[in-house]
Amino acid sequence: MRMVRLILRLILLLVVTGLSAESIPLQGVLDQLKATLQWNPETETGYLDLSGEGLGELGDRIIFSLGSPWMVVNYREKIRTQGVQRSEGNLLFPDETLEVINRYFELLALRRIQPRVAAVLIDPGHGGKDSGAIGNHQSKDGELNLLEKDLVLDVSKRLYQLLKKEYPEKQILLTRHDDTYLKLEERTEIANNVNVGKHEAIIFVSIHANAAFNKGAKGYEVWVLPGDYRRNLIDTEELDEETRPIAPILNVLLEEEYSIESITLAKAVLEGFDSTVGDVTDNRGIREESWFVVRKAKMPSILIELGYVTNREEAYLLADESYLQKLTSGIYTGIRSFVANFESTKGFTE
Ligand SMILES: [Zn+2]
Repeated sequence: MRMVRLILRLILLLVVTGLSAESIPLQGVLDQLKATLQWNPETETGYLDLSGEGLGELGDRIIFSLGSPWMVVNYREKIRTQGVQRSEGNLLFPDETLEVINRYFELLALRRIQPRVAAVLIDPGHGGKDSGAIGNHQSKDGELNLLEKDLVLDVSKRLYQLLKKEYPEKQILLTRHDDTYLKLEERTEIANNVNVGKHEAIIFVSIHANAAFNKGAKGYEVWVLPGDYRRNLIDTEELDEETRPIAPILNVLLEEEYSIESITLAKAVLEGFDSTVGDVTDNRGIREESWFVVRKAKMPSILIELGYVTNREEAYLLADESYLQKLTSGIYTGIRSFVANFESTKGFTE
């Protein structure tokens, strides 16, 4: 018996590392998943019921049909696999099929215990010797000299106050509190070192203002990483030996998740702006670029451009406190709707 277990373990290891073993027989699969099988010979459909000791939770069920690449988990989630084959009356699971199932449940486990945003990190762009974009405009009342570093700090601090009040139980953080110069690496280092629970989420919001040669350009926009950009999100050192070989797969899944969340957050912030300043300036939409701070922060992250300091009309708006307050409440509304959505729909469990 010990020998059998050892062999099964070896098979499992080979399957996970993908070195050999093209398919493994049903019993090995049941042992690995700690599952029982109900088989309907008429429809050639199998019901794998997980015991909760291996993958998934007690009551989780995977349904598959012979020859179909689709498996259904808990009657609602479809996952695409290599299917299940039959050879000489025995069911065989291609190793890729098992790998997909494993991967799916790894992620499901994360989702089930990740229902909360624990921290929001606000990053006012530039600062100190780096003034960021500069807007100089003349009017009959004199000269307006607008510095990006100042107005983004102003908005960031307002946002900090609003979020602090709304979420006393969450960590609300600023990368800088005053006119200090911070390197980009220092900002992302702060972001990546925020102490949150293993399965708690943190979001990163970098705040900037824009400049353009075209003085007519105006409006707000939110940047996210390009959909196909791949970050290195998984620290392989932290994975156990059996999971380590599938780190690249986990990385892609996590990246996709962050990417979707970043876009959701970006949309929510744009909607917030629409409701507070949408009548006076343009919504330039979501843009994609691999900005350093967005690229290096290992979490859902966005970069907000509040408006153009080089546009005369918008510069005067950006110099006005009540306008900055409106921009702030736009971002605040967006974050609040993202958090509410995240914390209510993130888990699959009822
Ligand atoms: Zn900037």
